[in-house]
Parts: sequence; C-alpha cells; structure tokens
Amino acid sequence: MTDTLQISDIPVPGYERVVRGVDPKSGLRAIVAVHDTTLGPSLGGLRMWPYATEDEALFDVKRLSRGMTFKSAVAHTGLGGGKAVILGDPKQHKSEALYLAMGRFVDALGGKYITAEDVNTSVADLEIVRRATKHVVGLERKDGGSGNPSPYTAYGVFLGLRAALKWRFGSDGCKGRTVAIQGAGAVGSALARRLVEAGARVHAADKNQDRVAWLQGLGVLPATEHEILTMPCDVFAPCALGAVLDDQTIPNLQAKIVAGGANNLLLEPRHGKLLADRDILYAPDYVINAGGIINVSVEFHPGGYDEKVALAKIERIPQALEELWTISKQERIPPSDAADRLAERIVADARGAKKAASCSVPPKGKGGGG
Ligand code: NAD
Repeated sequence: MTDTLQISDIPVPGYERVVRGVDPKSGLRAIVAVHDTTLGPSLGGLRMWPYATEDEALFDVKRLSRGMTFKSAVAHTGLGGGKAVILGDPKQHKSEALYLAMGRFVDALGGKYITAEDVNTSVADLEIVRRATKHVVGLERKDGGSGNPSPYTAYGVFLGLRAALKWRFGSDGCKGRTVAIQGAGAVGSALARRLVEAGARVHAADKNQDRVAWLQGLGVLPATEHEILTMPCDVFAPCALGAVLDDQTIPNLQAKIVAGGANNLLLEPRHGKLLADRDILYAPDYVINAGGIINVSVEFHPGGYDEKVALAKIERIPQALEELWTISKQERIPPSDAADRLAERIVADARGAKKAASCSVPPKGKGGGG
C-alpha cells in the first residue's frame, strides 16, 4: 500500500523544527513543533482541536511547545519541549486511519519528538498511534507506561499550594483556609479531594454541573463561574483552561494566592506584574503543574517507570517554587518572570556546556593519539 503522508517543513525562527503532516487518505492535517532539544528529546502532548485556520494551529503549537521546554527545564526532567496538534473536530474526524497516519508522522521525526495524551486525545487514541511508532508515552501501566498523569499533576499542585500558604501566611496548614477551584475535571477534582481531606473549605465551579454535583458528595461547596473568580478566599486555584488571568479578572480577584493546575494562565506576560501589583502571590503555572510531565519522564529512566522515583521528584515542586519566590523578592520581579528567566538560563547553560564539550573533542585524525 502506498503511503500518502506528505511531510513539509515550516521555517520558524527560534524553533528547531516545525513540520506539517498531511495525509489525504485519512484526512490527517497536523503540525509538530520541536521547540528545543538541548536538554533531551522533545516531549509534549498531542492535541486535537477544530482550529479555523492553519495559522491558528501554528500559533497554538508554537506557544505550547515553548511552554514544554520551560516546564521540563525547571522540573529537571531531562527532556526538551515539543507539541503536536491535529486540525479537526474530535467529535467528527477521529478515526483509526487518522491516528495511524499521525503515528507514521511522529515516527518520521526519528525520536526528536515524543508524543502523549492531551486535550481531546485519549489513551485509546494513543494506543493506535503506538502501532505506528514507539515514540509514545503515558500509556497504561499494564503496557509498561506511567499511566494517567492527572493524579500526579494534582498531587504537585496540592504540594505547591501548601508551599504558597506557608510563604504567604507562615504555615502550610489547610485547616480554616478557603480555596476556590475553577474547573472540576481530572486535575481539579483530585485537588479538591486532597484539600477537603486536609481540612480546607473548598468551593468549585465547572461548566459541567454534574462534575460539581459529584464533588458536593465529598463536601465541596458549589459556586457559579462568576462567583469562583470573585469570591473572597485564600487561594484561587484555576484548573480549567488557560488565559484566565487578564485585565478583567485580575482586578476582581479577592484571593491572596493564585495556585492551580491549568497551563498558560496569564493571558500576556505583563499579567504576572498585575498580580504582583495587587499583592497576590502567584505560583507560576508550569512549575506548580509539572507533576504529570515529571511522572511521564520517569519512563525514560534506565530501569523503566518507578512510581517512587516519580513521587520523590514531584515532592521537590515546593522547593522549586520557594526558590522562584525568593528570586522574585530579591530582584523585584514577578514570579512568572523569575520562572521564565530560570528556564531560559537552564537551557542556555546546557547549550553552552554542549558547545564547549563539542569544541574540546579533537578533530578526527589529528591529535588524540599523543
Ligand atoms: P479536564 O478536561 O478533565 O477538566 C477541565 C474542566 O474545566 C472541565 O470539567 C471543564 O468543564 C471545566 N471548564 C472549562 N472552562 C471552564 C470555566 N470557564 N469555568 C469553570 N470550569 C470550566 O482537564 P484536566 O486534565 O483536569 O486539566 C485541567 C487543566 O490543567 C488544563 O488547562 C490542562 O492543560 C492543565 N494540565 C493538566 C495536566 C494533566 O495531567 N491532566 C497536566 C498539566 C496541566
């Protein structure tokens, strides 16, 4: 059978490789962005979304892959940053042929990009991708994978949230603290459960009422979408979608801390300063929500996946946050800027070390033999 997959490069400055994959037979239209592999092969989820145009998809995949470089750098996962998007409506366009073609596309990149589950792609979809490439992680435990990352993300957010309480109030105790959770999905509901168990008063809002109703059984108090963004509380924990911190929402927040699981929370980098100006302590999103990527990165350890190793690494998230808040205080910059600077420095140092190592290798045929 002839493969109809066509792969073409899209030149994007600042990115190692951005590639378009089109397969007319299965209807696949996808883009993979490999942002940076200085620290290791690029890893990031495969998202399916009904983007209106290719430019919209390109914008998203660029932003997300760069975010993965930063997240992995600060979490010291030994991985670089990448991401993939499929242009299509998950309700209409999912098929076995589409995911097999996606697998061939990932495989053609020779391991420079490793894929995983993301918005609108399931483990079942990734199992199909896996039939065409070995460069897939996050599959079921029974298949040697690290399993669903969400409980690990939620665990890291819970620890990071407590570190924020300690930084702000001098104690990481949850008893008597009020937390407003936006989004009661996989991460938000696991976080809510931990917080309730730790004695916090937890409010939650979700577009899907059933999810909040289920949490009410655990003692969580329901809130509307508007209330969750404006209620007096100690912590606002956004666990829904990105870009919720903007010119409209920040002035209305009545929280002392923002610490949640969602990615790309700040609409623009300047919104980190707006939070700081309002004296709201911010736990940078890609630092506090790194539990999932940390868990998956352990699949690359020489002995294979080991949950104990993953948990020990996730338990360092509070320390990473405290370091950022210290830099933020000393240098009078918002924590979000401190995180970006730290991530950029980690990548630049590794790039410098690699360059120095390659320069110190004697050219073939000259020297080396004494
Ligand atoms: P999910 O789809 O299971 O849950 C998201 C929930 O948010 C859904 O229930 C949805 O109805 C709700 N929601 C959407 N918009 C809302 C709004 N305006 N107000 C209230 N609720 C709203 O997703 P998830 O896996 O829990 O991930 C949540 C966030 O965390 C996402 O931004 C994701 O990118 C990020 N994240 C997840 C992981 C992970 O391991 N799952 C890792 C890192 C980051």
